[in-house]
Amino acid sequence: MKITILTLFKDLIEDYFNHSIIAKAKARGVFEVEVIDIRDYSLDKHRHVDDAPYGGGAGMLLSIEPIDRALKACRSDDSYVLLTSPKAKPFSQEDAQRLAKKKHIIIICGHYEGTDARIEDYVDERVSLGDYILSGGELASLVISDAMIRLLSDAINPDSLKEESYDDSRLEYPQYTKPAVYDGKKVPDVLLSGHHANIARWRKKMSLLDTYIYRKDLFDKKPLTIEEKILLEEALKEK
Ligand code: SAH
Repeated sequence: MKITILTLFKDLIEDYFNHSIIAKAKARGVFEVEVIDIRDYSLDKHRHVDDAPYGGGAGMLLSIEPIDRALKACRSDDSYVLLTSPKAKPFSQEDAQRLAKKKHIIIICGHYEGTDARIEDYVDERVSLGDYILSGGELASLVISDAMIRLLSDAINPDSLKEESYDDSRLEYPQYTKPAVYDGKKVPDVLLSGHHANIARWRKKMSLLDTYIYRKDLFDKKPLTIEEKILLEEALKEK
């Protein structure tokens, strides 16, 4: 997979790809990243890329021309273009799964007051991180990239992807590491028992309990099975 990010803050984006799991996956050739400075496509000798909105109002808008020119330089028949925008449905794990199958994703980072609305005709999809306003699309582009990259085969240990939160519309069960007792708080006995079937049952139960407490709405998306109902009732009684 190739990811191209169009931004005014190239260094900020590039830095992210040089750390941790993502950097290792990049070094192993799991994905390729290209960061394009929109200013390089400005026709203006001062490299301006923004202007005041028609009709008045506060702030500046990213102009359509440099973005279109940057897109023309990097897109091909395999490209799928995303526009970061607060005016869209929030990005989800399902979106990450769907987009991770594309060969080439281009992400446009807006800035200032946003982007000239005619950008719409040049993109395939808008993506929002959530119902709040960020100063630019850079964080959104990184979130989208990270979520997609970890789903690519060979990016991370495939076992780590199993049973993660949002996989199958459930949150992941709580996990613990050493020490077994900290500040008087004990790790649940079952996890120290070495009894695999009991551990698996406990994890399923706790995953349902956490989903019930923090994201009950996921049960609307994927209703509880009879077995899950029994486990959840048991978990709620024990709580
Ligand atoms: N005036 C616009 C907000 C512009 S914010 C409005 O009220 O709708 C500037 C840029 O930041 C946007 O063009 C977009 O690229 C990015 N951005 C802001 N909030 C975002 C969000 N929730 N998700 C994704 N991108 C966002």
